Amino acid sequence: MPAYCPYSKFQVGACLLAEDGRTFKGCNFENASYSAGICAERCAVANAVVNGARRFKAIAVVGSTAVAWPCGICLQVLREFCGPDMPVIAGAFGKGYRVRTLGELLPEGLTPEDLGVNV
Ligand SMILES: [Zn+2]
Repeated sequence: MPAYCPYSKFQVGACLLAEDGRTFKGCNFENASYSAGICAERCAVANAVVNGARRFKAIAVVGSTAVAWPCGICLQVLREFCGPDMPVIAGAFGKGYRVRTLGELLPEGLTPEDLGVNV
């Protein structure tokens, strides 16, 4: 999946594995108004949600030239749908990968339960 990154030239792809076995891809896409862009991880989550997936088993994120760990906003978006034990696999194209859990990367993320909602 090609990213749209004419400004940074840093391509990122993400793939979410849903509990039902489906996979959902996302890419970063930038905008001339920089803050209007979105990360590959949130693009993948949006792709999944629009297709009815709400629970996930893992996410892999790959950057074109450097390891692409999810940013804080993406970690919080993932925490909405994923438990703290979910593996987050981050790598750089052709340079290997590392694995952490969502809870390691975002130990105190806000959850629906924190707001009294059981989704
Ligand atoms: Zn992000």
